[in-house]
Amino acid sequence: MSARETHTPDWEKHPLALGGVAANPDPDTTPRTARKPSISCVVPAYNESENLPRLLPALIAQLRQLTDCWEIIVVDDGSRDATVASLQPWLGEAGVVCLALSRNFGKEAALGAGLDHARGDVVVTLDADLQHPVELLEPMLRSWRDGIDMVYAVRADRSEESAFKRLGARVFYSLLKFGSSIDIPPHAGDFRLMDRCVVDALCALPERTRFMKGLYAWVGYKSQAIEFIPPPRMAGTSGFGLRALFSLAASGITAFSNLPLRLASGLGTVLAILAMGYGTWVIIDHYLHGSDVAGWATIVVGLMFFSGVQLLFIGVLGEYLGRVYEEVKLRPRYIVGHRLGKTPIAAQPASPQPQ
Ligand code: UDP
Ligand code: MG
Repeated sequence: MSARETHTPDWEKHPLALGGVAANPDPDTTPRTARKPSISCVVPAYNESENLPRLLPALIAQLRQLTDCWEIIVVDDGSRDATVASLQPWLGEAGVVCLALSRNFGKEAALGAGLDHARGDVVVTLDADLQHPVELLEPMLRSWRDGIDMVYAVRADRSEESAFKRLGARVFYSLLKFGSSIDIPPHAGDFRLMDRCVVDALCALPERTRFMKGLYAWVGYKSQAIEFIPPPRMAGTSGFGLRALFSLAASGITAFSNLPLRLASGLGTVLAILAMGYGTWVIIDHYLHGSDVAGWATIVVGLMFFSGVQLLFIGVLGEYLGRVYEEVKLRPRYIVGHRLGKTPIAAQPASPQPQ
């Protein structure tokens, strides 16, 4: 969606968002086993000038083996290095397109931009840093042919990550599992193959602050995991520092769980009951036993504790309110600064008839 198009709210364009029937039900009735689907690959890229020249040849070779009709959409997410320039050798050929966003909008927005522009029967999302092996496309497509609508890669091993990151991931997924009615598969990333129906459903969602891992699960459809061990990043550094990870985790929890709000009500109730019990005991103790009422230390500690708890939960409320504020502003999720490369799929040879 470009900035120009944002005047039409998403829900007007997509009946699916109103809880209706899928906007684009699969019109091809040929069994999937007999089809060679057109494939779109969406690659979000932020400062990936060293990785893209290695990824693209491998990805193109893989796609040529799988289908005759494909496109690769590299979404340059406001890179500060020569990411766009590194694509030049491929931009002249049909099939490779670059959407250069007007600034860095973050990976979730970059993925959204790619999905909105992808036109394949099947869409694959993968990282630019070669941590998502292109060889997996073949087994993923096999599962699609067997009737699976979404095949997602799950890290079989996180041992190469720091202990802190692993602990953070475990806490995050436990919180999500406990507090959300949606079953979000742990350790699954953005390396996925999706049928057109899944992509249409994702693009129809009117949400602006998007937590893609949750939305993939929310839209449903027949899904299957495929395990893989991610190799280390080929070159450059990860765009997800500690701050970005915390912010992503907060976005995921506020988008898919009311647990923190329930916790606030629960803790408030427990503390109020305890305070009443303590107050009753102080009165009884004073009149029955003639004890002195406890001094200033109790008051100060009590005040500090209750103020702390109140501030903490005002912060939690603020997180949710901030989310609502982001939504009501109705700003576009991203702006495509410019688009480079030839029109993809149309310029590719047409899909052959079923064999
Ligand atoms: N990325 C992006 N925008 C950002 C940060 C990252 O498009 O603001 C891309 C990045 O270029 C890569 C993918 O998202 O293709 C995954 O990022 P990264 O490798 O930094 O994440 P990690 O593998 O450490 O989770
Ligand atoms: Mg990476």
